[in-house]
Amino acid sequence: MASGWAPDGAVQDQIDGSITDAVRLARSRLPSGPGEIYCQECGEEIPEARRLAMPGARLCVACQSGHDRSAAQSSYNRRGSKDSQLK
Ligand SMILES: [Zn+2]
Repeated sequence: MASGWAPDGAVQDQIDGSITDAVRLARSRLPSGPGEIYCQECGEEIPEARRLAMPGARLCVACQSGHDRSAAQSSYNRRGSKDSQLK
């Protein structure tokens, strides 16, 4: 169906453009490269199994779990409501 106000394909070009931007943005937020061999926080060696499981990991398990815990506390209410939905 021709829209009459834009050449066919113009809208699709716009959608493709925004998807490309979103992918680029998401990739820029992900850790890139092979990650770190030593934890950036405490300097302990990150186990090879963890590095293989989480390419780009920059923290050891202990430091990462500490980060996860503080993140969980900051979103406690959201997680709490999610848990109640599961009951
Ligand atoms: Zn660490």
